[in-house]
Amino acid sequence: MKRTIIRPNGLPESISTQVVTPIMPSVVYASKNPNELDKQYEGKEKGFTYAREGHPNAEIVANLLDRLEGNSSGLVVGSGMAAVTAVALGVCSSGDHILGGDQLYGRSLRLMKEDLPRFDIETSFADPTNVGAIEKALRPNTRLILVEAVSNPTLRIADLEGISKICKRKKILMAVDNTFTTPLAIKPLKLGADFVINSITKLLAGHSDVTLGYVAAKRKKHAEAIYNFVVSSGLTPSPFDCWLAERGLATFSLRFEKSQKTAFSLAKFLSSHKKVIKTLYPKLMDHPDKRRASKILGKNGCNMVSFAIEGGRKAANKFVSNIRGVAFAPTLGDVGTTISHPSSSSHRYLSPEARNALGISEGFFRISVGLEDASELIEEFRQALDKQ
Ligand SMILES: *Cc1c(COP(=O)(O)O)cnc(C)c1O
Repeated sequence: MKRTIIRPNGLPESISTQVVTPIMPSVVYASKNPNELDKQYEGKEKGFTYAREGHPNAEIVANLLDRLEGNSSGLVVGSGMAAVTAVALGVCSSGDHILGGDQLYGRSLRLMKEDLPRFDIETSFADPTNVGAIEKALRPNTRLILVEAVSNPTLRIADLEGISKICKRKKILMAVDNTFTTPLAIKPLKLGADFVINSITKLLAGHSDVTLGYVAAKRKKHAEAIYNFVVSSGLTPSPFDCWLAERGLATFSLRFEKSQKTAFSLAKFLSSHKKVIKTLYPKLMDHPDKRRASKILGKNGCNMVSFAIEGGRKAANKFVSNIRGVAFAPTLGDVGTTISHPSSSSHRYLSPEARNALGISEGFFRISVGLEDASELIEEFRQALDKQ
């Protein structure tokens, strides 16, 4: 750091170097002279200039996620929704049509329904587990298909292979939101996707103390378009959040393995309990997309389990009051197990009929399994279910 009048000491001297990444909040970077600055802007020399355009903490996290997703041009942005927005507005223009999976994350649905049409971007939805339905929903101006590999909260598995084939044939771009599945279970770019999106907020950072997103494009021209849109629209992440995310990422694979192992045990327990009328988990034999689940997810089942009990809202309230060791909170991917109730949170704006069509009754719950001891967690669910 250059010594200046206002910062006369620069950084303390040290012949040894940090092992841990420092937080680097500097918004501006001083260059040696205008010629050196030219070299940076022309891309001949690598250097940071202004934090909205990129900063070291963001780049470190992007590089870590690039390694996981098998990519080299990913970008960290201010939230998972910023990543969805960056793909939609970075590569689509007015007159284009975006086809979404009909069970996308709530805010992605809302962005597509309420916001994109204001910019004359057409949107519609189809069932991503059914390639026929996807193909039928295409329009001559379809530019992008946005899907999630595992749907929220009913854990249906999208036919990524089938959709990718249609996209190749029709020259349509394909984006996969990998938040639920994470790059440890699926690497969408290797399955034919043109874009991958992750909410780092969830499992990747893992401690519910950071809001960040990641977006990567397979092709350079798309990566550049997204980068320019992100910088112009200010979807920039904060250095401190990136620093926390880097710290969270250090244990991501351990957390993911432990959580999904516990999730499978919990799913088996739930499906054997007499008060549970339905349990959904990709590795259970009665999962509606079992074959596709093992093909796409391999040995992974991920950390989300959904289940239903009878008795409507009253029974749901009673169950939540009795399950004291688990936070009732509509998020996922925390170190602690959380349980959410889609009909009063993520899916509250759907009519009861529309919810029922998806199988989301008042007794339907979604669990994001964390790092508790498996038997202790199962015991917590057992005592609450036994009281139903
Ligand atoms: C949470 C989530 C998002 C949005 O991420 P934020 O970081 O909260 O903006 C997008 N997609 C999916 C599947 C999510 O679960």
